[in-house]
Amino acid sequence: MRKLENHSLKDLNTFGIDVNARDFIVIEHETDLFRWVESHGYEDIHVLGGGSNLLLTQDIDGYLLKNEIKGIEIIVEDEETVLVEVGGGENWHEFVLWAVEHGYGGIENMSLIPGTVGAAPIQNIGAYGVELKDVFEGLNAFHWEKGEEWVFTKEECGFGYRDSVFKRALRNKVFITRVYLRLTKQNHSLNTSYGAISKELTGKAVSIRSISDAVIAIRQSKLPDPKVLGNSGSFFKNVELSKETFSNLQEAFPSVPHYIMDEQTIKVPTAWLIDQCGFKGVRYGETGCYEKQPLVLVNYGHATGAEILEFSKKVQKKVQEKFNVRISPEVNIW
Ligand SMILES: Cc1cc2nc3c(=O)[nH]c(=O)nc-3n(C[C@H](O)[C@H](O)[C@H](O)COP(=O)(O)OP(=O)(O)OC[C@H]3O[C@@H](n4cnc5c(N)ncnc54)[C@H](O)[C@@H]3O)c2cc1C
Repeated sequence: MRKLENHSLKDLNTFGIDVNARDFIVIEHETDLFRWVESHGYEDIHVLGGGSNLLLTQDIDGYLLKNEIKGIEIIVEDEETVLVEVGGGENWHEFVLWAVEHGYGGIENMSLIPGTVGAAPIQNIGAYGVELKDVFEGLNAFHWEKGEEWVFTKEECGFGYRDSVFKRALRNKVFITRVYLRLTKQNHSLNTSYGAISKELTGKAVSIRSISDAVIAIRQSKLPDPKVLGNSGSFFKNVELSKETFSNLQEAFPSVPHYIMDEQTIKVPTAWLIDQCGFKGVRYGETGCYEKQPLVLVNYGHATGAEILEFSKKVQKKVQEKFNVRISPEVNIW
């Protein structure tokens, strides 16, 4: 365990916001966590992974625990699958590359998502038709309220679209230490259903590696690199509407793009709503909407978290006024 005081978080969040953590504690093993809790209790704790889904609007006055628990280990193996235990502090994309290298499938569509493995269950990360829950078997977490380590099954995690129990009833109440994922050993369940992937793969053999390469190429062409232009990926979630609300919207805006999720739910891309409000590529001081993808809010270099938050509220308000639809942040605001 390492401890630092008044530590700058500028390089530890992908928006590149310069705030300090009063008490910054690096957790490298579960025992660090147990020792920490024994001596300090459970109050005023925030958990930090890769800082890629955070908007920091102020200094962190409490304790900030940075997850650096590492390790990738195959626990069980059969002819078709491997069950892998991954330390929560492992970098997600590096873990995907490890899986690709070993020929294990199931997560290649989620290549290049920033952040840690331990944060992946928080919002059930997903991309190009695959979500974490598709390969998820369980996780270990330190449960602040119970004061002990807890094992969560997939059902107990309550996964939904960019959602889990850790964003609702258990928000800020756990520290995820290890995650268990079941990956396939065969090329048989590869998902190329997203148009962009099949286009990128034209003329190439479909494999775990070629899908990962295609996803990396697509993402690099579409999304800003946080090292160059601060951002946290999609700032807002896509909108899920009831059938009735959607038909009212469609009556007023017949060209609204949409995807039918199930009999009751229709998803509308928030990027389209924001674009229709004229925000695509719009700069507002040091922040604004990315020119190629308006769902991504960016920091042109010197934005404060408060400025980005204020701009996000403007976007929200305009969308509400024009479409009577409420868009909500995917990003965690501290
Ligand atoms: C360029 C870019 C592209 C992105 N693309 C995608 C995408 O395609 N799909 C997608 O789903 N997301 C995407 N994201 C969002 C982000 O990468 C994910 O949400 C990622 O899982 C966040 O991981 P993190 O370690 O950076 O979490 P952080 O930002 O550090 O934390 C996010 C939240 O999780 C909590 N948390 C973190 N670790 C733990 C832990 N071990 N235990 C308990 N709580 C914890 C934090 O307290 C915080 O509330 C993108 C982000 C960027 C910058």
